[in-house]
Amino acid sequence: MPRTTSAALFQRARGSTPGGVNSPVRAFRGVGGDPVFIARGDGAHIFDVDGNRYIDYVASWGPMLQGHAFEPVVAAVRAQAEAGLGFGTPTEIEVEMAETVVQRVPGIEQVRMVNSGTEATMSAIRLARGFTGRDLILKFDGCYHGHADSLLAKAGSGVLTFGLPNSPGVPAGTARNTLTAPFNDLDAVGAAFARHGEDIAAVILEPIAGNMGCIPPDDGFLAGLASITEQHGALLIFDEVMTGFRVAPGGAQELYGIAPDLTTLGKVIGGGLPVGAFGGRADVMAHIAPEGDVYQAGTLSGNPLAMAAGLAMLRSLDETFHARIGKATKRLSEGVRECAARRGVAVVVNDVCGMFSLFFTEAGQVRSYSDVVACDTERYARLFHALLDAGVYWAPSAFEVAFVSGAHDDAVIDATLTAVDEALANG
Ligand SMILES: *Cc1c(COP(=O)(O)O)cnc(C)c1O
Repeated sequence: MPRTTSAALFQRARGSTPGGVNSPVRAFRGVGGDPVFIARGDGAHIFDVDGNRYIDYVASWGPMLQGHAFEPVVAAVRAQAEAGLGFGTPTEIEVEMAETVVQRVPGIEQVRMVNSGTEATMSAIRLARGFTGRDLILKFDGCYHGHADSLLAKAGSGVLTFGLPNSPGVPAGTARNTLTAPFNDLDAVGAAFARHGEDIAAVILEPIAGNMGCIPPDDGFLAGLASITEQHGALLIFDEVMTGFRVAPGGAQELYGIAPDLTTLGKVIGGGLPVGAFGGRADVMAHIAPEGDVYQAGTLSGNPLAMAAGLAMLRSLDETFHARIGKATKRLSEGVRECAARRGVAVVVNDVCGMFSLFFTEAGQVRSYSDVVACDTERYARLFHALLDAGVYWAPSAFEVAFVSGAHDDAVIDATLTAVDEALANG
């Protein structure tokens, strides 16, 4: 597949943008080679600027739950654009969005709209600190919550360490307020609370980790976190920016039957436009300005164009939707396991409705960040490039999830499996 126009555009982009991209993972650093410039999308497919077609599993990194150029979303955006792009006043569509979120997400009684997942988690953390009067937060190794200072901290090894900034520019004082623990390790969380319980404002996690590949919670992990946080007067925050509306109508908290105190949303909620949200218990949300004194604001928050796109997306998810993408995800994951077995390649495939990850490992299971980093990322890079050349666009990083959308029908999944089989056969 020639990608000469992409290559030329990438060279040009590097002249005016750091690394040629507006978000680092787009740059293919994890797999090598030049990024592909996409011109348009249609359903499960995207088309690059050289005219090549790919089956897409990146889905704009999650939002495109119904595939590309989904007509109800496009129509809603077109209609709203003609009525005005935004006014900086309250609008009816914001009320409709808020009511829809409150009705669907079990843990949300009140919700505030923002413009990105990063903004949602940053605001939820401030609210948790303001509500509890405590400074520490506890996060898990390998969970990503956007790029706000206090959430970029990451653990060294060990059961519990004070976080060190893993990005220059995060003040040491900020990082010190972030504790970290291994995902799926309740004992480490218990140890952190035994030492710092009085000072921990919140535990934040992806209830299904999706930013170190897909790692579901072990049985009892989420319930254990709910009971530890409640016991110590800390808040439990589910970052459902990736899982919200995807794994079930009400997100992972509905799937596993655990309602957190606060929830953050993003990606699908914007239908492809920049939207985030945070919400939760009414008594906690009452601390947000102007009702309370925890300040949070946004010029474009609740923007009607973005609300129109997001609402059209949410309304398109009927009762059969999640069963359908759940089945498509299983068809993919089981098919990939079969291909790997046939080709004698040791893999672990993790999946939850609409989310899928393939790990090259002999370990038999992948439950935490340390399991993930032990996987063979070079083998993933080879698979990535083989698939790209065969017209299948997986995430350009071994640590990202592949997303299945409502447009991924059996024919699309089967074409993917044919490409995977061939790629694994060729090493
Ligand atoms: C993508 C993501 C974020 C960050 O959202 P942005 O819109 O990129 O700022 C936060 N948390 C999780 C779980 C995510 O997947």
